[in-house]
Amino acid sequence: MIKHPVFHVEPWSLREMALDLDVLAQAESVFALSNGHIGWRGNLDEGEPHGLPGSYLNGVYEELPLASAEAAYGVPQSGQTVINVTNGKLIRLFVDDEPFDVRYGTLRAHERVLDFRDGVLRRTAEWVSPAGGAVRVSSTRLVSFTQRAIAAIRYEVEPLDGPVRIAVQSELLANEQQPSQTGDPRHGADLANPLVQEFQGTHDNTAIVVHRTRNSGLRIGAGTDHLIDGPDPRIESHIFPDGGLVTATAVLAPGQRLSLIKFVAYGWSGARSLPAVRDQVWAALTAARQTGWDGLLADQRAFLDDFWDRADVEIDGDTEVQQAVRFALFHVLQAGARGESRPIPAKGLTGPGYDGHAFWDTEAFVLPVLTFTAPDAVASALRWRRDVLPAALDRAAQLGLAGAAFPWRTIHGEECSGYWPAGTAAFHINADIAAAVVGYVDATADVEFERDAGMDLLTHTARLWRSLGHHDTQGRFHIDGVTGPDEYSAIADDNVYTNLLARDNLLAAADVAEKYPDRARELSVTAEESASWRDAARSMYIPYDEALGVHPQAEGFTRHQIWDFAGTSPDQYPLLLHFPYFDLYRKQVVKQADLVLAMHMCGSEFTAEQKARNFDYYEPLTVRDSSLSACTQAVIAAEVGHLGLAFDYLGEAALMDLRDLEHNTSDGVHIASLAGAWVALVGGFAGLRHWAGQVSFAPRLPEGLNRLAFSLMLRGQRLRVEVTQASARYLLADGDPLKISHHGTALTLKAGKPQDLPIAPAPMRPRPSQPPGREPARRHPIPGSG
Ligand code: BGC
Repeated sequence: MIKHPVFHVEPWSLREMALDLDVLAQAESVFALSNGHIGWRGNLDEGEPHGLPGSYLNGVYEELPLASAEAAYGVPQSGQTVINVTNGKLIRLFVDDEPFDVRYGTLRAHERVLDFRDGVLRRTAEWVSPAGGAVRVSSTRLVSFTQRAIAAIRYEVEPLDGPVRIAVQSELLANEQQPSQTGDPRHGADLANPLVQEFQGTHDNTAIVVHRTRNSGLRIGAGTDHLIDGPDPRIESHIFPDGGLVTATAVLAPGQRLSLIKFVAYGWSGARSLPAVRDQVWAALTAARQTGWDGLLADQRAFLDDFWDRADVEIDGDTEVQQAVRFALFHVLQAGARGESRPIPAKGLTGPGYDGHAFWDTEAFVLPVLTFTAPDAVASALRWRRDVLPAALDRAAQLGLAGAAFPWRTIHGEECSGYWPAGTAAFHINADIAAAVVGYVDATADVEFERDAGMDLLTHTARLWRSLGHHDTQGRFHIDGVTGPDEYSAIADDNVYTNLLARDNLLAAADVAEKYPDRARELSVTAEESASWRDAARSMYIPYDEALGVHPQAEGFTRHQIWDFAGTSPDQYPLLLHFPYFDLYRKQVVKQADLVLAMHMCGSEFTAEQKARNFDYYEPLTVRDSSLSACTQAVIAAEVGHLGLAFDYLGEAALMDLRDLEHNTSDGVHIASLAGAWVALVGGFAGLRHWAGQVSFAPRLPEGLNRLAFSLMLRGQRLRVEVTQASARYLLADGDPLKISHHGTALTLKAGKPQDLPIAPAPMRPRPSQPPGREPARRHPIPGSG
């Protein structure tokens, strides 16, 4: 776990005051820079020591056989894993012939700062070599939001005590050595030497290499160019297998500096020729040089100013959560900003965890946040789903189903889960995609998208549900043998979450078929077919346990034996690493919010009374062995009145990576949990819900939070919401009047005219318990806080 306070608490940056080699890999993840296209882990400039070297390009993967113990029909035979592409961030330094390596000599000072507004990672180090040469090293690194193929570094060395001979080597290196596996299944596969060199060249201060992956056949180009400044530097370029470097040497007297600006460009393609990829890299480099370092910095700041203007969340009362929420939003933006029709992986481009795969995390947790803060990123992420529709249609056909069966985990679109019960059987991913489409269109009114990619996705997923489910003799529609969000239950009948989302998916598909009859014809949707969708939706069976007065998360769940929580020790979590699935599957133990997530996503299906009872029922069963749980529990805890508990869950979601709560931040940050920090605040404490064109709020702050303020983009208009303990203020910045509701009271907002409404206190309810040892850390230990 990352010890506190390694990071200094400040509102707009993440500052590490000293280098701790024990948490190097975790720090590399939290300090990772990305624009959704390129991802650079926060490795030290000199490359070593490292926890896990990492440079990634969204969509670049290697194919590898998927080993399954027993062959069975429909089990995928090959998988995909993200690869560490050519490292362009390496800058080695020699001080009087000695390599700058923090493990040797004396590190007098070391500081790294991730600046959320400038979008850069800054580092300063003061180091004395074993022979006594003292230098200050300063570097600033960025991955450009505005030029998606570009990353850049400014690196500077100055002597501290007396003259030193300095050599700075800026390198491109492919096929870096990787540390070996941890044995944790959530860690990705390690591939030695995934890249085969096809081209290399140097010219003045530039170096370019082009490689190809062995199996997936992708071509990757990386190039670098330099501006070097210092007293009479000597500069030489070299190439060697898998890389190239530019060396600059100089003798520096105190007061003199050697500085180097390194531009790095990447390009890749599954189709284009070697010259095409090489030239693309050269073109990007030239464009970056034209913009220049200062220009890149200014553009980065302008891009982020615009983002924060729309997306910032302000909190009074908890400085740590304030910082964590901005850190979270920064990473969510990094993951999605410039993906441009590529997936948003569970770890973004911050590490190899989960093999770089995208899951339902994207649609269920990340896109709802981007919908209100960076809507273009949502359209592009969903267009990627549409682009990989052919693979989803094939998969459904292979499974004997109609429509599209999207993969549980993938990079390129094909199913990469070899474990059916917690993979393909989690069919809810199809409804999650549909819900993201509906949510995006509802919030943006982007009818062009709706008519095109949106309708493709809604139609083919509706077809899947219609063929996966069936009407029983009484006409009720069931979806049997599926896995819901809780992966500690599998292959269950009538999972409430799945059924409710499938129902919405069927209705949304029928609605767009009516709205766009020409497109419906193109997609061969007949009146009978869309009537059958409405019929299935209307007859969707939702199980209810009358005796207990709660919804079982799936038929029969509440009849199962309750897990022996008292006999499970805290070090046996996560349970998946200590107990067999067969035992988890047949007991009442919940890995992550499932029925509780259904109450968030489809809240109008449950009465307030049912929500409160269901929440209290599932709390003692939910172990939160997934980082995707706390934020949802925060939302419903807030809704039913457990405000203190909601605050605790907000803290957990927001601090997931800053505190390394799941002990795997080393593999990359948890993008969905980070998005969940926003969800917990805006969906939880402001009570935002939006469906069917209705936007409603039910704000209520916990003790300890005095103010929450944020903006939302709604159909191109900006709505500012400011909540205090006693009241909420809504201000529409511009555009046509907007109807919203506040705790059930309807109001019409007019541009420029703020409206203030009072907030009644929350109902008093006793705080529900969690499994022993799985209680969330208290944000504010206030006795009696629900
Ligand atoms: C969760 C899944 C999630 C995956 C990737 C698993 O631990 O149970 O719901 O999609 O991690 O984040």
